[in-house]
Formats: sequence, structure tokens, C-alpha cells
Amino acid sequence: MLDYVYPRYKVLRDADQCIKCGVCERSCANEVHRVDNDLGRVVADHMKCVNCQRCVVMCPTRALSIVEWPQVGNGSNNWTLSAMQDIARQAQTGAVLLSSMGNPQHYPIYWDHLLLNASQVTNPSIDPLREPMETRVFLGGRPGALKVNERDRTVVSPMPPRIKLDVPIMFSAMSFGSISLNAQKALAMAAQELGTYFNCGEGGLHADLERFGDRAVVQVASGRFGVDMHYLETAAMIEIKIGQGAKPGIGGHLPGEKINAEVSRTRMIPQGTDAISPAPHHDIYSIEDLRQLVFSLKEATRYTKPVAVKIAAVHNVAAIASGMARAGADVIVVDGFRGGTGAAPKRIRDNVGIPIELALASVDARLRDEGIRSRVSLVAAGSMRSSADVVRAIALGADAVYCASAALIALGCHQCQDCASGRCNWGIATQREDLTRRLNPEIAAERVVNLVHAWTHEIKEIMGGMGINAIDSLRGNRLMLRGVGLNEKELEILGVKYAGEQ
Ligand code: SF4
Ligand code: SF4
Repeated sequence: MLDYVYPRYKVLRDADQCIKCGVCERSCANEVHRVDNDLGRVVADHMKCVNCQRCVVMCPTRALSIVEWPQVGNGSNNWTLSAMQDIARQAQTGAVLLSSMGNPQHYPIYWDHLLLNASQVTNPSIDPLREPMETRVFLGGRPGALKVNERDRTVVSPMPPRIKLDVPIMFSAMSFGSISLNAQKALAMAAQELGTYFNCGEGGLHADLERFGDRAVVQVASGRFGVDMHYLETAAMIEIKIGQGAKPGIGGHLPGEKINAEVSRTRMIPQGTDAISPAPHHDIYSIEDLRQLVFSLKEATRYTKPVAVKIAAVHNVAAIASGMARAGADVIVVDGFRGGTGAAPKRIRDNVGIPIELALASVDARLRDEGIRSRVSLVAAGSMRSSADVVRAIALGADAVYCASAALIALGCHQCQDCASGRCNWGIATQREDLTRRLNPEIAAERVVNLVHAWTHEIKEIMGGMGINAIDSLRGNRLMLRGVGLNEKELEILGVKYAGEQ
């Protein structure tokens, strides 16, 4: 059949720079480059390039660059080249288009419309180099009222189980299978070093990572992959995954190519066959059912661990979150529609869900209105690109944030969105041994630690500039935010004033 699909990218090779060393050929699992001794040059199969940029980084002479394929569309805003190419692909295969990572479409990024405040003259700023700044956060349920011992002023109320984060940033769920063991190990080591937590996702906890159990959040998802008593007992926190920002309303999907013997053992599923977790939990059809699962998990672990519930940010997210709080969740995780994934149907990823900024603000406001905000902790996820996004999320009501894509970018990910193929040239979203070996967990962990240290310094500087010396004082403090380029409805949902407004 005639193929109507064009390459997406073009590999440009500077012939004067290229020394024909073959590094690019050896670097590329997609077999884009080939040293052709007969032609006396290196040739490229553009069709296979996914723009992971491994070859660009590895080329010793900087001879390579990747550009978009120069084909133009017909000028229509409606029938764009990309829309027509998707149709051509589906006409050829009859298949649902799969993609990876977060929603790349041109929806508003509200973080970029929220400016941060700084003190001037009154309420002077605080110098984080000279004065203590508190970045510790506790996640878990909270008692309705605190009883204090009158004599020594110590708290005597029984405290529900909580986890302590030294920084308000955790690494979100990425399962063994969707990412390599080396990538997961790097995140676990970084979490230990930073005094925070990684999340093993719905793929079970690999035996090698059990030693990081006190830094692990383990997921109980609809497929129940890898879940047994030992798994629950090893973890610091348990997270029931109802939904994921990148694919609200559907289950997880791990392509069979990524399920090798190790993944199969850890997930307790057959090797080489697609692992599709069901869209709903088959025992949850109401808030009462959710409550049963929350309390079953608490009971099973003798009320020693907080239980979180994670949902995707969807239209009625605030009402759902209110139900979750009443169902006994200690931590509510809301994942916005720009959150990443190892594999998702492209149409779902690009069209379903709502931005985390609006979802977070409306959940926080609803829980406050109902007087139950203080019962639970709130974690925001779905594209935290910098320390400034973290500060904005906390000011909109989050206790802490989950970050995944930024951590993977620190490991080398170039957001090529080809994770589902299992051929990640950076050794991250792959189980191929020749590729996973490329990621040294120690070096990778150090890069993630550096990133979070840098963000933490910046968070302290931003808070100091605001005259705030603790994350607790920033949480839900919308006075520290002002909107630009937003309409009245958006400002109302976000609960912020316009820039310049008193
Ligand atoms: S890695 Fe760079 S120098 Fe080596 S063959 Fe490829 S393009 Fe040429
Ligand atoms: S993890 Fe690998 S395959 Fe996935 S987007 Fe990043 S570089 Fe591409």
C-alpha cells in the first residue's frame, strides 16, 4: 500500500564536521543513521527519527541537528498537516493513535498568567541565606481539633499517620515497565537523599527497591498489579489510583514489548502481552465503595500509613475531591491534563481533562467552603516546569507537588513522546538491556538531587522576597498571586486578583 505519511523530522548532518565515527549509528535504537562505506558517508532514514536528540548530544563534532520536516500544509487552519497526517496514519493501520508524555496542544498554561508578589518597604523581605526558611511539609490526615497539655504545651491529640517531606516536591507515579529499573532506582535514591518520596506507580515494587520502602509511595490501581500485603507494608504511603491526568476515564496501558521477565515478575502478569488495567476499579462505583477500599487498606496496615487517592482533573473535580475527603482519604492528589504518561491514546491525552491550575484552585476553594480543607492534604500534579510553578501551586492551595517529566528531563529525557515504543535512547522508558545500561542510577540520582536542590534554593528566595519564611504560610495564600491576560471567570475560579488591583 502506498504510504501517505511523511517523516516528522529531518536529520541535518554537516558534511564538513562529520568524521564518520559511527557514534550516531550506535546511539540510535531507531536505526536512523548508517555509516555507508560504499558511499563514503553517513546516511539517515528520516522516517525513523523521533527527535529524541540522543545522537545530537553524543556526536563528538556537533555535526548533527534535527529540524521539523519542511513539508507545509495547504494553509488551512482547520485541515492542518498534522490533522491530515493523523488521518493518513489511521487510514493505513486502522488503529488508535498512541502517544506518550503530556498534552502538547495549545491550551492556555495558567502558570504563565500568574505573577508572584514581593515585599517592598512594609513587611520586609527575608534573606534566606541569613535566616531560617521552613520547607518541610507533612502529608496525611489531620485531627479535627488539637488537644494541648496545659503544663508543657505539648500536643496530646492522637495524630493520624503522616509522611514528612523535607521539600514540598515528590516524584510522581512512574511504574517499572513504563520506565527502566535504573530510572526508578535513580528516583528512589534521589528521594532518599532529598528527604522526599518516589512513587512506584501501578507496576509493583521491584525487590531491589524494597530497601527504599520508607521513601516509597505504592499504588493500588484498577489492575491491582503487584499488590500484596508485603507491598503495602513496605511502603511509606499507599495511593489509590482512580485516574491519571494524561488519560482520564481510561485504564493504564503497558505495551507487551516492554514486559520482560523482570517486569512480569514484579507486576505479577504474563511476559510479552499488553497489560491493560481496567478503566474503573471493579469494586468502586460510588464514594461509599471508595471509602471501603480506603479503610480496607488502612485496616490492612493497622492504621500506620496515610492513604492517598489520586484522580485526574476533570470537569467536576471539586465535588469528587470533596467526596474523597469524606471517604477517609488522608491525601488527595489531583493530576492535571498536561501530566505525562508512558502510553496513552493521543485523542484522550490531547482532548480530555482540565488544567491543573483551575482544578487545584477549585478543589481547594470547595474544601475550604465546606470546612474540610484542614482534614486532608492536597497534592498537585501535571506539569511543574520550574520552582516558580511549585510556588504558584502551593499559593493556589497545594501542600506539595508531584513532579515527573521534569525529573525525567533531568535524567536526559528530551520529550520525544515515543516512550510507548520501548526504544528510549536515554535508557529511561525502555526495558532493552543495551539501552537501560546507558542510565547510571548513581549519576542520574545526582542530577535529580541537583535539580531539586536548585529549585529549593529558588523557592526559598521567592518566599523570602514575599516576606514569608515557611511553606505553611504560603499554602493557599492567593494574595501572593496576581493574574495577567485572564478573563473575569478565570480570575474568579483561580481566586486571584488582576495585576495592579489592590
Ligand atoms: S556521530 Fe557525528 S561525527 Fe560521528 S558519524 Fe554521526 S554525525 Fe558523523
Ligand atoms: S522518556 Fe525517552 S522515549 Fe520517553 S519522551 Fe523521554 S526521551 Fe522520549
